[in-house]
Amino acid sequence: MPMRSSEVIVIGGGVNGLACAARLAAKGRKVTLLEAGAAVGGGAGEREFAPGYRAPALAHLTQGLDARVVEGMALERHGLAFHPALATTVLSGAAEPLLVRGGKTSGPDTAAWEALHRKLSGFARVLAPFRQMRPVRLAGENRLFGLARQGLGIRGLGRGDFRELLRMVLINVHDVAEDELTDDRLKGLLAFDATLGAWLGPRSPNSLILYLDRLARGADPLLPKGGMGALATALGRAAEAAGVKVRTGAQVERVLVEGDRAVGVRLAGGEEMRAGLVVSAMNPRTTFQKLAGAAALDAGFFKAVGHIRARGAAAKLHLALRGAPEFRGADPRSRIVITPSSEAVESAFNPVKYGEVPGAPVMEAILPSAHEPGLAPEGHHVLSAIVQYAPHAPKAGLEAARAEMLENTLKVLEAQSPGLRGLIVHAELLMPQDIEARFGMVGGNWHHGELAVEQMLFNRPTFAAAQYATPLPGLWLAGAGSHPGGGIDGAAGWNAAQAILEAKA
Ligand SMILES: Cc1cc2nc3c(=O)[nH]c(=O)nc-3n(C[C@H](O)[C@H](O)[C@H](O)COP(=O)(O)OP(=O)(O)OC[C@H]3O[C@@H](n4cnc5c(N)ncnc54)[C@H](O)[C@@H]3O)c2cc1C
Repeated sequence: MPMRSSEVIVIGGGVNGLACAARLAAKGRKVTLLEAGAAVGGGAGEREFAPGYRAPALAHLTQGLDARVVEGMALERHGLAFHPALATTVLSGAAEPLLVRGGKTSGPDTAAWEALHRKLSGFARVLAPFRQMRPVRLAGENRLFGLARQGLGIRGLGRGDFRELLRMVLINVHDVAEDELTDDRLKGLLAFDATLGAWLGPRSPNSLILYLDRLARGADPLLPKGGMGALATALGRAAEAAGVKVRTGAQVERVLVEGDRAVGVRLAGGEEMRAGLVVSAMNPRTTFQKLAGAAALDAGFFKAVGHIRARGAAAKLHLALRGAPEFRGADPRSRIVITPSSEAVESAFNPVKYGEVPGAPVMEAILPSAHEPGLAPEGHHVLSAIVQYAPHAPKAGLEAARAEMLENTLKVLEAQSPGLRGLIVHAELLMPQDIEARFGMVGGNWHHGELAVEQMLFNRPTFAAAQYATPLPGLWLAGAGSHPGGGIDGAAGWNAAQAILEAKA
C-alpha cells in the first residue's frame, strides 16, 4: 500500500472537523481531512430518504453557528445565507396554538415569559465566553489563574445574581417553569427546549443548564438557504479554499502508534498515512476504544473512556408528503413544537429509563420544503421532526420499538394535523441505534457523549483529555464529545485548532 504523509490528519468531516481543519490550514499547516461518508457534513448534511425527497441528515436547524467559524472560514463568501429566523408555534392538546419568538409571545404569560427570558438570557451571556475557551486543567500549574479567568464573567454578575444563577442551575427546569409561568404551553416549551438532545427529563436535577447553553449560543433557530446541505457544502468549500485536502469515502480504521506516539492512520482497505499530528473529530469513545486501542493507552484512562455516558434519546422522523400538512393554522414556516405541558415532557421521558417507548412523544417539527420547495417534487413536502424520547436500548428489540415509536409519533402528529397520515408517501424513523449505525454517534447521542454537568468543561469527555490534547502524544480531539459539546456550531473544532496552534507555538 502506498504511504502518504501530511503534517496534520483530521478524522471526520462534520462541522467540527471542518472548522478545525480550516483553522489549522489557514495558519499554514498542511492538513488532510478524512471523511468516511460520501460527502462532508456529518450530522449537518442532507440526504435523499425517498426517491425525489431530500431531508436534513440529522440536524434540521442551526442554533448559533460559532461566529469565529462563520467569519474565520468566510462562510458567506462560500455561499452560506440563512432564511429569516423561525418563530415557534407551540401546539398543546386542544389549546389555541401559541406563537413564540425569542422573549416575545402572546397569551396570559406575556410579561412573565419576557421577564424570564431576559433573566435567563442575562445568565447565558455570562456563560457564553466559556464556550470559546479551552477548559482549565485543574491539576496544572496555572490552575488558579485559569479558574479566576473563567470565573471573571460570573463574578461580574454581582452577589445576588450569582446566587440566583446557582439556584437556577442546581434546580430543575420543571420547577423553574412552575415558579415563573402559568401557561402550560410555555411551561411545555421551556421543558422541551431545555431537554432537547439530552438524556434527562425536566424534573431531572440541573436540567436548566442545557437551556442556558442553548441561549448562550445566542441565536434563534435558523435554516440555511438551500437547506442543511447548503451549510455542509459551504463548510466543505471553505475548508478546501483554506488549503485543506478533503478526502471523502476514507474511513479510518486505526490510529497508528509508534513509540508511545500517534504517527498516522490506517484506512479501511489498508492504506496507511503518516502525520505529525492526528486530530479526531469523531466520537471520543470510538477514537480511543477502537481506533487507538487499549494497548496504546494507560489502563486508568481506558477505563475512564468506557465510563463516558452516551445515551441518545432523540429519534429522527422524515415524512415524504403528497401535499402540505395543515397544523391548526400554524405558519408552515415556523418551528412547530408539540408538547402539551412540562409534565408531558417528563411523562415521555419516564419509559425510556426502562427501555420502553413513550405513548405520547413530544417533538419539534419543521417543513424544510416550505422554505425550499426543491427538496420535494412539485406540490409535495418533506417533514422533519426530532422526537423525544426514544430508548437507546429498547427492551422489545430495535424493529418492534421503531415500529411502535413511529406509530405513536404519527398519532400525535395526526391529532394536531388531521389528515396528515393520508398524505404520507414514505415514512422513515431513525432510533438512537440507527443513528449510531449511520452516523457513528455512540448511543445515538446528540453530543457524542451526554452534555450533563458531570461531563462538562474539565470533565469533557474525560478529565485527562479535556483540553483537546489526549494522554496519547500526537493524538488530539476536536469533535462534539469535547468542550463545549454538540450542535451545529463548530466551537469544539475551532477551540481544538486554537489549542493545537498554541501548543506548537
Ligand atoms: C436526532 C438528532 C437531531 C439533531 N438535530 C440537531 C439540530 O437540529 N440542530 C443542531 O444544532 N444539532 C442537532 N443535532 C446534533 C448535531 O447533529 C451534532 O451535535 C453535530 O453533528 C456534531 O458535529 P461533529 O462535527 O462534532 O460530529 P458529526 O457531525 O457526527 O461528524 C463526525 C464525522 O466523522 C465521520 N466519521 C465517523 N467515523 C469516521 C471514521 N472512522 N473515519 C472517518 N470519518 C469518520 C462521520 O461520517 C461524520 O461525518 C442532532 C443530533 C441528533 C442525534
